[in-house]
Amino acid sequence: MSVIVRFAPSPTGVLHIGSVRTALFNWLYARHCSGKFLLRIEDTDKLRSTEENAKAILRILKWLQLDWDGEPVIQSTRIERHKEVANKLVEQGKAYFCNCSPEELALKKEAAIKEGKSYKYDGKCRNNTTHYIEGKSVIRLKTDESGETVLDDLVQGRVVTENSQLDDLVLLRSDGTPTFMLSVVVDDHDMGVTHVIRGDDHLTNTFRHIQIYRSCGWDVPRFGHIPLIYGPDGTKLSKRHGAASAQDYIDLGYLQEAIFNYLLRLGWSHGDDEIISREDAVKWFDICDVGKSPARFDMVKLQNLNAHYMKARNNESLLASIKPFLNTELSEMQTNRILLGLDGLKSRAKTLVDLVKSALIYVEAPEAYDEVCAKYLMPENVELLKDMIKIIQSEESIQQDILLERAKALANSRDVKLVEIAQALRSALCGYLVSPSVFEIIEILGKDESIQRIRRFIDLDM
Ligand code: GLU
Repeated sequence: MSVIVRFAPSPTGVLHIGSVRTALFNWLYARHCSGKFLLRIEDTDKLRSTEENAKAILRILKWLQLDWDGEPVIQSTRIERHKEVANKLVEQGKAYFCNCSPEELALKKEAAIKEGKSYKYDGKCRNNTTHYIEGKSVIRLKTDESGETVLDDLVQGRVVTENSQLDDLVLLRSDGTPTFMLSVVVDDHDMGVTHVIRGDDHLTNTFRHIQIYRSCGWDVPRFGHIPLIYGPDGTKLSKRHGAASAQDYIDLGYLQEAIFNYLLRLGWSHGDDEIISREDAVKWFDICDVGKSPARFDMVKLQNLNAHYMKARNNESLLASIKPFLNTELSEMQTNRILLGLDGLKSRAKTLVDLVKSALIYVEAPEAYDEVCAKYLMPENVELLKDMIKIIQSEESIQQDILLERAKALANSRDVKLVEIAQALRSALCGYLVSPSVFEIIEILGKDESIQRIRRFIDLDM
């Protein structure tokens, strides 16, 4: 049997990072099994679904290179089919028209709560397969009243529910629209889905879904319910924790390969391997190996992975990734300087945002100087900087090694530590004290720009 999985997001909001992991696990399982990864946009909630959210979902999947097979299925185009299935179930006596008014049901619910019982529809209309009232009737499924439904979940293991706990769920609402319960089952069946891999917040729905499959006489797919992602405080990861949507992480400057690797390891492992390539992930991933305890999001781990993947990227591709974070178009000279400087910069950054901040030294002279730089405007430091200007001027072409030797000699002759000179130069060239080798920066900026920046710094009245 060839494996067919699907990712079925609702475009009712931004894509949560947990949903991205669901997409990733589906994609990996499909590719691992040489099966198919389908995409379905569940846009039946017309009030909350937007075209913009749907587009953003596709954009993020493409960004992560989670390519799907065929065209995305748009759930709202399939409503007639959902209705057809519901009506057929009524014809077959497996579903019925329920004409109870919402007020009547609310009263019964209230009474049950007063008695301390859990509410369940009492089945008053269970035998009504003929009396349909336009605008009032809903279609309910005749759920099994006895026995149990067993779910042999690929992640959660065996989970059992007494059928007496399940109520006669609504398939079609009184306005004729299908419910999520019905649409999801009909679409999964029609799309040939063999494995439903989704968040464990759907686990209780699954028992109802199984009832619908059985009533329709369809094969029940395998299910794998993956645990949700929690924040460090043990509650469901949300914006309160700083970042929760996939777009938040993109905006914070994480590379797609870091997000891919991080989400992969969140709830799944392969020995002690932390860095796992796409190829190995596809080779090794199996849905049965996903753990069933909730995964905790660890920002530090993600940052470390990101730092690793930034170092592993070549400079051209890294430059392409930081361009969207720069507010300015780069000239050819600025581009070349950044390309030369990236080796030194990327080993220090954790995110693209960090990298862009530090790369600005190759874009423009500092607009402001950190407070700590003031120290390097003391007369003895200014003297050192003036000497450095002379040294830089006297060089035919700037080479960092030679410059370093000459700065060492200057330090000796003035009886100061080399670091004093380096920090004074950093202040002048960058406006702050943490940077790659300052002699490398001078080599990349070139003679004129370096001298100009130093002059500007020492003339400045801070
Ligand atoms: N549209 C549902 C959601 O976004 C997913 C349904 C499913 O995967 O079965 O939660």
